[in-house]
Amino acid sequence: MPLPLSDSPEFSKFLSRAEKLATEMDRGNEMKIELIEKAKEFGLLSLKPEGEEFLKIVEELSKRNQSLALSLVANSMFLVEFEEWGSAETLHAFAITEPKSGSDLKACRTKLNDGKVYGVKTLVTNAELAESFAVLASESGRLKLCVVRRDDKVKVRKLNVSSFRGSGIGVVKFDGAEAEDVKEEGTKAVMRTLTYSRPFFSAIALGMSERCLEVAINYAKRRRAFGKSVLEFQGVSFQLAECVTEVEALRCLILEALRKREHLSAVCKLFAAKTVKKVTDVCLQVLAGHGLIRGGYVERAYRDAKAFDVGEGTSEIMKLLISRRF
Ligand SMILES: Cc1cc2nc3c(=O)[nH]c(=O)nc-3n(C[C@H](O)[C@H](O)[C@H](O)COP(=O)(O)OP(=O)(O)OC[C@H]3O[C@@H](n4cnc5c(N)ncnc54)[C@H](O)[C@@H]3O)c2cc1C
Repeated sequence: MPLPLSDSPEFSKFLSRAEKLATEMDRGNEMKIELIEKAKEFGLLSLKPEGEEFLKIVEELSKRNQSLALSLVANSMFLVEFEEWGSAETLHAFAITEPKSGSDLKACRTKLNDGKVYGVKTLVTNAELAESFAVLASESGRLKLCVVRRDDKVKVRKLNVSSFRGSGIGVVKFDGAEAEDVKEEGTKAVMRTLTYSRPFFSAIALGMSERCLEVAINYAKRRRAFGKSVLEFQGVSFQLAECVTEVEALRCLILEALRKREHLSAVCKLFAAKTVKKVTDVCLQVLAGHGLIRGGYVERAYRDAKAFDVGEGTSEIMKLLISRRF
């Protein structure tokens, strides 16, 4: 299916609907089947983390509903190693982190025995609705990446997370679930996947930062204090100017990371985390008391921003990857 142009009228309708449901998803900590179905119709569930068009879609969606954007990026991660599964147009998840180990992949305790998977994964995006999972598991001491379809041997429990509450993040227990399409060299497969997806995860941070700036600048123009608009105070406008500069730098870095993944994927994600944390912080400060009321975009983005220091490898692990090249 051809990709919709990110500025097509049909896609604009989808964006509006996604925006409308964003607060409800955050409040209820739930995904919306209606939006996943629509994403299927657009062919968005068969996309690998590649190309500027998908990047643009992730950025635009993140300005309205970053939880849905994260679901699409997590789905695309599955397809890096299992591309042929994309034609099934089902929702996928990438299940690597475990209760006792995240950064340290080699400490994986999930087992693959006689073609069956036993173990627990946690913090899995899309766990709520995913129909298949890419699972890292160890077989005779070697790590493999395999696919497990959701069935009665797969149990999901949603987590009450503070960030990305509409992305169906949860714990997934595999109790003798059948493994399909087993790939050797699981660690390399996971690293390759993350290298591909980090610029797309960073594009969520970009979209969120842009939207927060738009909200904060508009607010600062209208909000009056001491007889003028608060945007007229340089203490406010200079901070926003710095944020705009960093957001533009992030945009350039993301595009460059698409071309030079091996070199810039970790750099890009590290910078995305710094940028979105700073921008959401500054923008919330501009909105001040009103920004802290639940339900606003900036308040939600402020909570979500911290997740960029953690998801797809922590900021410390990004520094480790970058410094390994010295
Ligand atoms: C929004 C979100 C979505 C996520 N989605 C998924 C998903 O779809 N699938 C999935 O499998 N996981 C997912 N995760 C989990 C995420 O990948 C892990 O939380 C992350 O890899 C870190 O693992 P951990 O939480 O176990 O931390 P740990 O690895 O236990 O780390 C604890 C602390 O120690 C630090 N640390 C660890 N090792 C080193 C080192 N060598 N040098 C310096 N510092 C170190 C870490 O940086 C961190 O500060 C998601 C997380 C978030 C927030």
